[in-house]
Amino acid sequence: MGNMEKQNLNPESELEIEAFRSFLSSPPDGTPRELLDFFSAMGEHNLLPPSLFLETVEQAPVAISITDPEASILYVNSAFEQLTGYARDEIIGANESILSSNSTPSSVYQELWQTIKDNRVWKGKLVNHRKDKREYLAELTISPVLRADGEANYFLGMHRDITAMHQLEQRLKFQQTLTEAAINAAPMVVAMISAKRKVVLDNMAYKALQGDFRGVEPAELFLDSLHQEIGFDLGSPEKKQKEFENIEVCIESLSSTSPRWFACSGAWVAKVDEEAQSFFKAPNNDSGFLLFIANEITAQRQRVNEARLNMIRANMTEQQMVQTMREAISASIYKLQVPLNVIKAALAMPAPEHQCSLHATLQQALESGDDAMESLHAALPSPTLEQTANININEILHEVIKLSTDKLLASGVIVDWRPAPVLPCLNGRANALRGLFKYLIDNAIQAVKESELSDKEIRLDTRVINQELIIEVMDNGIGLPNSMRIKVFEPFFCGWQQAGEHSGMGLTMAQEVVINHGGSMEFDGGFLGGCRVFIRLPINDTGGEYADESTQ
Ligand code: FAD
Repeated sequence: MGNMEKQNLNPESELEIEAFRSFLSSPPDGTPRELLDFFSAMGEHNLLPPSLFLETVEQAPVAISITDPEASILYVNSAFEQLTGYARDEIIGANESILSSNSTPSSVYQELWQTIKDNRVWKGKLVNHRKDKREYLAELTISPVLRADGEANYFLGMHRDITAMHQLEQRLKFQQTLTEAAINAAPMVVAMISAKRKVVLDNMAYKALQGDFRGVEPAELFLDSLHQEIGFDLGSPEKKQKEFENIEVCIESLSSTSPRWFACSGAWVAKVDEEAQSFFKAPNNDSGFLLFIANEITAQRQRVNEARLNMIRANMTEQQMVQTMREAISASIYKLQVPLNVIKAALAMPAPEHQCSLHATLQQALESGDDAMESLHAALPSPTLEQTANININEILHEVIKLSTDKLLASGVIVDWRPAPVLPCLNGRANALRGLFKYLIDNAIQAVKESELSDKEIRLDTRVINQELIIEVMDNGIGLPNSMRIKVFEPFFCGWQQAGEHSGMGLTMAQEVVINHGGSMEFDGGFLGGCRVFIRLPINDTGGEYADESTQ
């Protein structure tokens, strides 16, 4: 006990130490050897007085029991009495099995015994009942108390009632199952997306979209579309940036030629921080998930688009008439200009005396020619001004395909539609662009018709490369010899076998639309035996109000 004296002990403890000292100096006969060893070890290791240990165990808020190797109870603390309802006198000598309700499977007890008999600590849950037979769920730890020779003479059992926690857990699980079932059964697309664009939870409707989009992550497409539409940025630290409601986005479906429309809403759900070090910290709203909900509105949009298409169709028919008139009058002006130039040249030459009357006739012809030219210029329909707007080229192409459906069906042409799933908007003139693509598709139809191939195909492809929209209109028609790649843009050039209504002004005008949008147009004449037209349109071209002569 020598070391114990060095401590600063209160008088009561000092008395206890004195009592131990006298006990150890002449221990009574029959005092167990282990007890003497234990007290001597306490002295050597500078331990606290045994009464303190006893009080600590006695007052511990967890139910403690000490048993012999057969689980016969030798000691229980007061928390044990309170929890089980058994008074100390009633339970000492009884087996721990007195607490067993019949709800714990015997395999659990077998595992328990196997563990503690192996001198290992067992931790687990048992269904116990109190003296009054009320059941509770016990979280129990049993540890063997080992002798110096490694054998367990006693078992120390510690348990607490975790019924309330279990109920809470069960309720939580139930709510989770319920929420998951509700989310899964919901007809709308639901997904939880992390700030790093990872989908951490989704539902059946979302999974179905994954199939429809041929493995492309729908979340990526939605986030890209939302970025195009409202500049939404999931990575932004601003919480407000992460909430939106009923934003309509269009996604090109890779499995069908019609785009799909969705009304999207999103709410930011802050992440629950389970880390121990965050216990006293205020919740961090920056890290979390976007709860994303999308309702498909394709059917509604299709109805609206159908009505819009009818208006566009009527508008385009009118435009077509005006254009045909413009082309016819332009052709007449062009053709009239040739003889007028000849007359002008003849009149510029000095006239011999005997040809005075011819000179006068030529002068008269020139004057009437000039009059006719003036009338033709006056008859030329004036171009209409078209405002620029934000335009989705995929949408324009859809409209044009729809407008050309009858022609495509009649010619037996199949359209292979390969759009970029999401395209940025372009600031441009919808009517002019519609006219441009309608013209190119009509040309492609004519090219495949003239080739007399049995498999007639037109391929439309859109994509974005380096801030440029690339639109390709391809056909497996008659193709275009290299020598004609530049010539086709010349006014009144017509290379068709069946010229029909073609005046040879179409490509000139189409090129003008492209140039007015800051872009370029190119022909690849030998593509797949047919022809490919490349259109490049810059995305950042702001455009402006202008008179588009080609499609008005
Ligand atoms: P039992 O026949 O007692 O035991 C079931 C199976 O356990 C047996 O088939 C056998 O495989 C194995 N087993 C039992 N006794 C021994 C043994 N001495 N040696 C090897 N294997 C054995 N049980 C509770 O239900 N609630 C408690 O809170 C609880 N606390 C315990 C605390 C301590 C410190 C110890 C040592 C045991 C405790 N037990 C407790 C276990 C208890 O002693 C019983 O084993 C259990 O209650 C099952 O009782 P039973 O009468 O249904 O079957």
